[in-house]
Amino acid sequence: MGQVSTPIIALITACFTVISFGLQASTLAQVETPTPKNIIIMIGDGMGPAYTSAYRYYKDNPSTNEVEETVFDRLLVGTSSTYPAKESGYITDSAAAATALATGEKSYNGAISVNAQHQPLTTLFELAYKQGKKTGIAVTSQVNHATPAAFISHNESRRNYEQIAKSYLKSNTDVILGGGQRYFPKSLLQQFQSQGYQTLTNIEQLSSSSSKKVLGLFADVQLPWAIDDKQAQYLTQMTQHALKTLEQSPRGFVLLVEGSLIDWAGHDNDIATAMHELDEFASAIEVAEQYVRQNPQTLLLVTADHSTGGMTVAANGEYQWRPEILKSIAATPQAIATQAASEANWLTSVQSQLGIQLTEQELATLKVAYPHGEKAIHKVLKKLIDVRSNTGWTGNGHTGIDVQVFAKGAGSELFHGFQDNTEIAQKLFRLIQQQN
Ligand SMILES: [Zn+2]
Repeated sequence: MGQVSTPIIALITACFTVISFGLQASTLAQVETPTPKNIIIMIGDGMGPAYTSAYRYYKDNPSTNEVEETVFDRLLVGTSSTYPAKESGYITDSAAAATALATGEKSYNGAISVNAQHQPLTTLFELAYKQGKKTGIAVTSQVNHATPAAFISHNESRRNYEQIAKSYLKSNTDVILGGGQRYFPKSLLQQFQSQGYQTLTNIEQLSSSSSKKVLGLFADVQLPWAIDDKQAQYLTQMTQHALKTLEQSPRGFVLLVEGSLIDWAGHDNDIATAMHELDEFASAIEVAEQYVRQNPQTLLLVTADHSTGGMTVAANGEYQWRPEILKSIAATPQAIATQAASEANWLTSVQSQLGIQLTEQELATLKVAYPHGEKAIHKVLKKLIDVRSNTGWTGNGHTGIDVQVFAKGAGSELFHGFQDNTEIAQKLFRLIQQQN
């Protein structure tokens, strides 16, 4: 064999350089996967992929050529399966899904962070507390509803609302914001106060509150629908306040934010209300996104617990989806129906609240429903909105479709691609444990 020619040696050297540089880079990447000091978990309850697609077209500016990107498009990194423990089949409820996201373990439908034997499973909040972090929640349902409950409490049933509310007292959760006054009687509120919590009942009190521990309950059960109270922006305000309060923690924080009512609108097959709830959730995500930009040692993780109602963007073989009526409508179909049922001049008021000119056929259908009262009017209004927008529904319950995962900030690359909902929590557990 003769001597290896110089160009070949140069080529081999070049290859080795590329390979070793590649190895080095990947090793570095592993070492340098940043450990977030703060974690913001945001759950759109019932927010399956059809909801975020619909939201894109709902938000689209019709006067431009392109379809504008939403915060969901901007932050999308992967997908997640949502099935509960096998004993409950393939379709999850919010309790089992929240248990998976809060503990990294699957359980039965109805379980609040307990296993099949009703033994408590360690939650992210408990681990965070052990690591010296502060924790908080901001939700639009009652604060003791399934999703937040799974992060704060343990119970064999999501329906034990009173027990769950009481258990929050010993949970070491610093910020608790949402609805649910009826589950926190005066005696319980006093116990919270004696543990250093400031208790609030009006969202306007938030801006002047500087307490490190706060229990803010702003409605008897759920907060007002976003569509009925457009100025309030409850979830955005609560998210801002939670961040402001928790960021004082030297060892960081874990915050759970839930757009709880997207699911409720889905159960009710109410697309107009759902889009407004999604809009409010998107605004809250933008607050968190901005926080991550300014505080890069923060991880923002957004997902859904399942999809609801089998909503479809277009229906009945027609290749159109028309969100205009969802923008012009002034209140929930329920509120419009309630008002109509008690008004003499009801047709004019319905028309003006829908923000459209009703067709002869629509008027006729409404007139037939009217004598049957509020419930019948409500049903006709929802149907009218579905037909106008060409929205479809397959039922009133949850569906088993995978949901999307959105992430930004420190450690966000861990969530790229497909994963199970338990793996999302397992990754979050690892990130919290990594921190010294
Ligand atoms: Zn639901």
